[in-house]
Parts: sequence; C-alpha cells; structure tokens
Amino acid sequence: MSSRLKSAARSTIRLAYGATRLDRHLRGGWLTAHATLRSGKYSAVSIDCFDTILSRWQPEWEQRAIAALAIELADRDSGSADAILRRASVSAARTAAGGAEPSALAIWRSFCGFAGLPGALADVLCRGELELLEASSALEDKALDFICAVIDRQLPLVVCSDTRWPAVFLCAVLQKKGLKMIQDALVCSCDYQKSKFRGDLFGVAKARLSAQAGRDICPANILHIGDSRLSDIYSGASFGLTTILVDKSRVASIGGSSRSLHQNCLSKVRQDIHDHLSNR
Ligand SMILES: [Mg+2]
Repeated sequence: MSSRLKSAARSTIRLAYGATRLDRHLRGGWLTAHATLRSGKYSAVSIDCFDTILSRWQPEWEQRAIAALAIELADRDSGSADAILRRASVSAARTAAGGAEPSALAIWRSFCGFAGLPGALADVLCRGELELLEASSALEDKALDFICAVIDRQLPLVVCSDTRWPAVFLCAVLQKKGLKMIQDALVCSCDYQKSKFRGDLFGVAKARLSAQAGRDICPANILHIGDSRLSDIYSGASFGLTTILVDKSRVASIGGSSRSLHQNCLSKVRQDIHDHLSNR
C-alpha cells in the first residue's frame, strides 16, 4: 500500500472510531506486553505472525523472485514479471469473496493465466514461494519469550494474521522453524475472506479463543500484539481489544550458513520450475 493510501486509511480509521476507542491502544513493545500480561487483567492473547513472530528478510521478495524465475525460464519478457504479478494479485483479490486477501495459490493461478504459463505450474510456484519463505525467515526471540509467558499462564492463544498463506501452510512453516503451534491456533485471513485490516478477522480470533477457554471471552479481555499500526493497533482497538505495538522484526541480512541455505533453495526452485516446463 502506498504511503499516501496508508495516511488516508489512517485518517479514515481515526475519524471512524474516534480517540476514545483508541485509548485501548498501549504503546510500548515487548516489555509492556510482558508487564500487561503480568497484570492479570487479560484472559486471552492474540498475536500477529509476520514481522512480529516470524522475521523476514524482505517482505514479499519471495513472490517477486519466483515470478521473475518463472518468466525467465518460460522465455517470456523478463521485465514484465512484476507487472504481471501485480495484475494477478489484484485479479485474484477481486475474485476472492468480499475483496479480501486471496490465497498464494489463487495469485499464482491468476499469474499463470496472465503470463500464458500452464495452469498446473501454479502449484510449483506456490510451493517454491513457501520454500523461499522458510529459507529466508526466522523466529523472533522476543516474541517466543512472550509466547512462553502466555503458555506458562495457561491462557488461550491464537496467531492472527493477514496473509495469503492458509493456516495449514503457515503452521508447517512455524513448526519447521521450531514453534510447535497447532493449526487450530492459527487464524489466517485468506481462510475466511476476512481481515484484521477490516476488523472482521478479530471476530474469528475471539471465537477461537473462546473455544479454547470453553467459555465466551469478550474483546475487552483479549490482548493483541502486532507490528502494524493500522491492522493490529487501530483496527484491533476498534474491535475492542487492548493492543500493543511492537517493533517490526526483520532478518537483518541473509549471511553465513543461511545464505547457502537460501542459495540452495533458490537453485532447487529454479530446477523445479524448469523440470515442470520441460516435462509438459
Ligand atoms: Mg505483521
């Protein structure tokens, strides 16, 4: 989203919800999150995934890298990969119910259509993007400490994410990284055609937390942590949650052993795309 659009959206959200509902937003980072948890006022916790629990090298770069590989190996005009990707994303989003975020697979199917590539390649591209995400991301220590504190207190917990990855895929990535989440604890926007940005995904998170607790948990008793001022903080507060903004977590660089892991992964994905295109 452009900075102008973000600024407009922020103003709209402020106008729509007013200052009082934003009182629930606590400034502070992870120390505040721990202190708020220790206060005992909250009976359930929701936490954002990307750039909060899972640090990425660069957001969305995996998608662009895969698109460029597919266009190059299919001998199309390499300069057009980004443009086709943007077109495919918009088109897939339009066909997703309610204009919500489409799944990665829907985007790659749309991409193959626009690029004149075989439809079955979409599965290969989707798998490749996920493999690159695994190779270029890491769990954030501070987030893990906080999750451990939540688990120690035996509080219901969900990971709530605006993402094109369905829970089944995201759960596998987190598990491979070492976070033993159960799939039921993941609330992913593309599974519901809802989003944190619009606020309706928090309703799904609330229901999931209530199911874990075996009783209804009202939004005022839920603490939500995330790195996005719009989707996690303002939108969460407008739903009635208490929200805490934490700094974006980023993998600083791909270096050392992770660089070779990343290069191996990129070579493997290139080979997979090449094999699929030559075996048609
Ligand atoms: Mg995030």
